[in-house]
Amino acid sequence: MVRRSGVLVAVGVFSMFAAAPLAQPGAASWDAKFRELPQAANIRASMERMSARPHHVGSPYDKDNAEWLLARFKEWGWDAEIETFSVLFPTPTERVLELLEPTRFTAKLEESAVGVDPTSNQKSEQLPIYNAYSIDGDVNGPLVYVNYGRPEDYEVLERYGISVKGAIVMARYGESWRGIKPKVAAEHGAIGCLIYSDPKDDGYGVGDVFPKGPMRPADGAQRGSVMDMPVYPGDPLTPGVGATPTARRLAIKDATTLTKIPVMPISYGDAQPLLASLTGAVVPAEWRGGLPITYRFGPGGRAHLKLAFNWDQKPLYDVIARLRGSTFPDQWVLRGNHHDGWVNGAEDPASGMAATLEEARALGELHKQGWSPKRTIVYCAWDGEEPALLGSTEWAEAHDAELQQHAVAYVNSDSSGRGFFQAEGSHVLEHFINDVARDIQDPETRLTVWKRKQAKAIDEAKPEDKEKVRSRADWRIGALGSGSDFTPFLQHLGVPTLNIGYGGEDESGIYHSIYDDFYFYTHFLDTDLAYGRTLAQTGGTAVIRLADADILPFQYGNLVDTVRTYDEELQQLVKKKREDIAERNREIADGVFAAVNDPRRPLAAPKVQPMPPAIELTPISRAIEVMARQATLFDEARAAAVKKNLPPAALAAIDVRIAKSEQQLLDAAGLLHREWFKHLLYAPGFYTGYGVKTMPGVREAIEQGQYESLPAEIARVAKALEREAAWLDSLNRDLRRVK
Ligand SMILES: [Zn+2]
Repeated sequence: MVRRSGVLVAVGVFSMFAAAPLAQPGAASWDAKFRELPQAANIRASMERMSARPHHVGSPYDKDNAEWLLARFKEWGWDAEIETFSVLFPTPTERVLELLEPTRFTAKLEESAVGVDPTSNQKSEQLPIYNAYSIDGDVNGPLVYVNYGRPEDYEVLERYGISVKGAIVMARYGESWRGIKPKVAAEHGAIGCLIYSDPKDDGYGVGDVFPKGPMRPADGAQRGSVMDMPVYPGDPLTPGVGATPTARRLAIKDATTLTKIPVMPISYGDAQPLLASLTGAVVPAEWRGGLPITYRFGPGGRAHLKLAFNWDQKPLYDVIARLRGSTFPDQWVLRGNHHDGWVNGAEDPASGMAATLEEARALGELHKQGWSPKRTIVYCAWDGEEPALLGSTEWAEAHDAELQQHAVAYVNSDSSGRGFFQAEGSHVLEHFINDVARDIQDPETRLTVWKRKQAKAIDEAKPEDKEKVRSRADWRIGALGSGSDFTPFLQHLGVPTLNIGYGGEDESGIYHSIYDDFYFYTHFLDTDLAYGRTLAQTGGTAVIRLADADILPFQYGNLVDTVRTYDEELQQLVKKKREDIAERNREIADGVFAAVNDPRRPLAAPKVQPMPPAIELTPISRAIEVMARQATLFDEARAAAVKKNLPPAALAAIDVRIAKSEQQLLDAAGLLHREWFKHLLYAPGFYTGYGVKTMPGVREAIEQGQYESLPAEIARVAKALEREAAWLDSLNRDLRRVK
């Protein structure tokens, strides 16, 4: 995952979903009763248990945790099982990094145990510092510093006349997902890639380092996957199908998501002598980090990087627990968090997993008191999220047809901390999650978490937007790119999805290191687990309301409002791209670059770029307006139907079709060059990783200058929106007809 006690909630206004007329007597009070049950002490104990030893994929304690989770679900009355898959997960057998010239230095590649932190010394069980899905390699070459290693950083290098061909590049963590850095480096001819944590970004530049403070110490390094996940996540050998023992597998050499060059993460302690060996021009101000050296581009020094891995299959243990629905058992509400970590993983993932588990305990308790959900509830503790969203992806692929038939929503969480409610996902659920947040109390301010999030949005808005933010009935939720287990559900299968958590009040620099453990979490993050309890209250309330609503609580007005902003952003993007290229081409023609060049430090002029054609986005705008009319009609028809006290049998068929509305936004052919990603509204960026691209096919064709594919991409999005409008039209008619 990407980073990021209490008092009974005042029960005031319930959303119409929870208080719907068909509800069994007291359904609304079940919902409120639930929120009294989660306890911080239980979450603390679960976190301590799950993070007691390293628990990465294939480790003994990973399996032990899965079995422990299974036993808890069973103890609380859930019908639970472990589903196993077999995946490619490389672990290192050899790691060498040495500077050969101008001086000799051998990188330590080790994090030191810390006296006050009792689990930091479990050396024999810890995965060493490495990047998973780097290829094997033994390379020797000059070093070049490439800043964050994004495509735009290579444009700067080109102006300085620096090539990375045959070089080992040094990129710093941040700004793009780590797997993008070796991908772009290899495209530019580099032979190796080192990714280091600069102290300016998550070390002493931000605060005291561990164990005095929460930031990264000099020998701390960030493990992590470098698989090309924007192409497809999950087991590299079984794209699109579950990695069962009998699944057809690609040969390792044919897996397209492994890196093309060897890659390794290093600490800033190890990076400093390498960076200090670089010669050549001093980098621009934005490229400078926080080490006490002069940052230069290189090439300089000469380094040797040797990596070898054990390319074994490893077992995955997904824990799946069900509570059968009483009225609509064939409709599934899914809730998930991963249980595997890179090392001890207290923040990532136990902070989310322990809260999710506490929800399951409380729901089990409610069940014993007489409550049964109308829809079937499925709690999922995923294995293998860290390497490649393995457990969720393989499970979603293995069950694809039944999930598209039965799943009505998926609610994900991952790491969680102290601070503000964070929610992203399908915009048909935006109004719904706002209503949930209106009934959850923030442990620090005693405001609702809704109010606190709105206050933050007002505080952070630009002056000209503040009134809009203040007067909007619901706050906006962000769109989902990638970075956690929601990806296969939303972007591959079209299951309506939410991702939730708390955070924003603590800095932390221990991400994916041996220091992300129970000692760290309980000293520096949500130390009393008050927000862990709030997360359990939030997740459980969302699950109960999704499971018990007579008609699924989807609202299309917010979706239309959001899609309109995507359309406007694309129009702005086209306009800006045309203006920027026209201006730059003119400056080249007018000799501006030649006139300002410093003859002692000359830069190459940028290249003339082809002018983008006048791009016509009207098919998308028109389709949005058609969808807008149907959305208004649907939201009215749904509200009227909720009041009518209709028999469940009449509604079951409609509910299933409401849930399938998200699937109308998929295209079976998938996105260009990455067919696994089928959602036309949201995807991780091809060259950014986790950052979301909205209307990705159109947006990336514009950004990357692939203008010839634009008309087809625009037509695909317009067609998907028209499909959604037609779907809503038929739902409207059914809703008005039902008796
Ligand atoms: Zn995580």
